[in-house]
Amino acid sequence: MSDQSIHVLILGAGFGGLAAANELKASARSNVKITVIDKKDWFMMDLVKLWIIKGTRKFETSKRPLNSITRKGIEFLNEDVIKIEPQKQTVVTPTRKISYDYLIISLGVELASEKIPGLLDNGMILYDINDVSKIHEKIKYLKSGKLGFAIMGMPYKCPPAPFEAAFIINTMLKEAGVRDAVQIDFYSPAPLTLPIAGPEVSQQLLELLKSENITFHGLHKTIQVEPNKLKFENGEREFDLLIAVPPHKAPKSVYDSGLAKEGEFINVNRDCKTMFDNVYAIGDVTSMKVTDSIVVPKAGIFAEEQGITVARNIIAKIIHEKEKAVFDGKGGCFVELGTNQAGYVEVDMFSKPTPLTLLKSPTIQHMQEKEKFEVDRLEKWL
Ligand SMILES: Cc1cc2nc3c(=O)[nH]c(=O)nc-3n(C[C@H](O)[C@H](O)[C@H](O)COP(=O)(O)OP(=O)(O)OC[C@H]3O[C@@H](n4cnc5c(N)ncnc54)[C@H](O)[C@@H]3O)c2cc1C
Repeated sequence: MSDQSIHVLILGAGFGGLAAANELKASARSNVKITVIDKKDWFMMDLVKLWIIKGTRKFETSKRPLNSITRKGIEFLNEDVIKIEPQKQTVVTPTRKISYDYLIISLGVELASEKIPGLLDNGMILYDINDVSKIHEKIKYLKSGKLGFAIMGMPYKCPPAPFEAAFIINTMLKEAGVRDAVQIDFYSPAPLTLPIAGPEVSQQLLELLKSENITFHGLHKTIQVEPNKLKFENGEREFDLLIAVPPHKAPKSVYDSGLAKEGEFINVNRDCKTMFDNVYAIGDVTSMKVTDSIVVPKAGIFAEEQGITVARNIIAKIIHEKEKAVFDGKGGCFVELGTNQAGYVEVDMFSKPTPLTLLKSPTIQHMQEKEKFEVDRLEKWL
């Protein structure tokens, strides 16, 4: 490969793709062409969905146009990636076939609601942008009854997010003066609230839930949803309103290309290399093993760091230097409590002998840091 007109193609303009594109643009020589493809023409951080539920934000005023990255000299194509052909070094969209020298796959996950029969007819999807304003409206008019939250598959993105939603809605119901008339149950297939953060942090989160009278039911694997009824492998429970996180899957093009087995994600090590030369995968679409039973959680903060790691190694490769960058697995997630406070789960995934996790007490400052987390990245990326 000559140094002339090198093409880096990035699939997906989410957390990972935007971080990688910006890092490449900041450091690469001018002969490196960077193209980002996304089927959406806008970006909005997923965490804003919680604020739409809360009613403090609106989708229309929170999304940012993705074509603004063209101002930086990064090309943007608003197209659907329908085929990835690593053997031919091409990617196919409905209108073109694009060649690349380096490929970064950052396509995130899709919600596999169809895996739970009856879910779409009988529940609302917490992670679906089309459902969050419906959730806001339903909660606004809820006066009494049984509210169920259900995590329906593991792993899912941002492990604390469904609990944050429960805390936010708990506060909305308190403010409306109806909290005592609403029973809140939280179902999960996992035995602990946050298995990825370990038993101690899970217990702390459980105590926080209990203090707000939200009942956590671990080891409840949903198999079906009927009108007002959740069916688990080990029983059934009634609900009046259901807010669910369905199982996740990778986009179809990832399975078709052989990059991941059906129903799984792309296996990568800390260099994010795939089985194909010059093809990298980052973020939620990947599965990065930490120990035999632990993988790196699906979180924006990690997708971003992996994007930067890969961008640095691609630049090193282009200028014939050693690829030294390695994803460090350090980061954290805010846990919003529905008040003006947030806790913070700090993690060091590759600390030895086991990952290190720590839940920092809720403070106003953590809530402000969460707000800044969004602002800083929007400013930097778009
Ligand atoms: C409610 C909620 C709250 C969250 N809060 C936090 C938080 O506080 N902190 C945190 O770190 N993380 C948080 N997350 C998780 C975070 O949003 C994800 O982990 C992160 O977005 C993953 O980045 P990614 O680049 O892998 O994928 P994404 O950001 O999902 O980007 C993937 C992109 O690929 C595009 N795409 C997919 N398929 C195709 C296709 N076929 N063709 C073209 N384009 C395609 C998509 O349109 C999308 O833009 C939260 C998630 C949710 C749902």
